[in-house]
Amino acid sequence: MYTEAPSESTGAGGAPKLAAPRMQPGLKSRLRTLASRALPRSVLTYRGVGDARRVALTFDDGPHEMTLAYLDLLERFGARATFFVVGNQCIGRSEILRRIVERRHEVAGHGFSHRAFPKMGIGPLHDELQRTTALLPPERATPRRLVRPPYGATSVRSLAVCAAAGYTTVMWSRDSDDCRTQAPDEIVARVAPADLRPGEIVLLHEGQSWTLAALPRILEALANAGWKAVTVGEILAP
Ligand SMILES: [Zn+2]
Repeated sequence: MYTEAPSESTGAGGAPKLAAPRMQPGLKSRLRTLASRALPRSVLTYRGVGDARRVALTFDDGPHEMTLAYLDLLERFGARATFFVVGNQCIGRSEILRRIVERRHEVAGHGFSHRAFPKMGIGPLHDELQRTTALLPPERATPRRLVRPPYGATSVRSLAVCAAAGYTTVMWSRDSDDCRTQAPDEIVARVAPADLRPGEIVLLHEGQSWTLAALPRILEALANAGWKAVTVGEILAP
């Protein structure tokens, strides 16, 4: 099995990011169903549990100069979220990481170099996980170790390496498409509460002005519809 999810970015800053090509919707869905049935949730997960109106917003590719603006918006709406950060972008940004945790959000790794996990050998992948975790605040708000693979790319080997090192690989059930569009309206529509199911994990990205513009509208719509935005650690807990 080698699945490469259709989103994700390599760029930093405000420049438009390249998204990987879309996989056929039917194939993607079948692979996801197969993988999630075959593997325990502690190894690979796409969504949370429970029937409550809870959703986990996840922000990949930080930390970034814009992170504090994201945090301010989340705080304004009483929302909590999970930040999947890139190890080499954490260097020199420990203050930003500290603030994420201080505001009761969750922070976890998204690789050290943002290379696709299946393209790495066992040793280098293990090293990526450990080097990134070493840069995270020690009190990172959840006892469970989580990792979001860059590009959503996984393989049997990469899942096994992550699981053996104690990490749950966290994918997503809903892509905001904020790597494909810079139109806040479209991003807001992708995360509309009317289409959400309890326990969904939503993919969003840091460092993007269009995502930042969409965020207050997403958070307001969720709050008005009675949805609570929680961390991945919380949404995976029964
Ligand atoms: Zn990424």
